Amino acid sequence: MVHFICPYCSNGMDGTPDCDDIAQWYAQHYPHLPVDSPVPGVCSDCARRYAPGDQVVLRSRPDVVFTVVGVIASPSHPELVTVRHPDGHQVTYAKSQIRLPSDSEASAPRLPKEEGYF
Ligand SMILES: [Zn+2]
Repeated sequence: MVHFICPYCSNGMDGTPDCDDIAQWYAQHYPHLPVDSPVPGVCSDCARRYAPGDQVVLRSRPDVVFTVVGVIASPSHPELVTVRHPDGHQVTYAKSQIRLPSDSEASAPRLPKEEGYF
């Protein structure tokens, strides 16, 4: 098994390659790392390019949907993303703090929970 860890947000991903010889895979792709070492790999949420108008949520609090209003870029650094809260105020976050809403959060109507369901 090859374990990738995002160096920006620490998300872990199992990226086991489809091959029989893991040692050869390390030698080919990560010759500087020992076999079975974790591998740094930027996760899809941190690699994503955001643009004004995109809807995002905070990873720590995905119940509020923000709208991207701007991206702050600097060479060789991860981007910062300025978003607008539904109440109108703007905040700038690191990409490691935000992600796209999941399908259920973006499209499901917010129905009241029925009695007895959690
Ligand atoms: Zn990440």
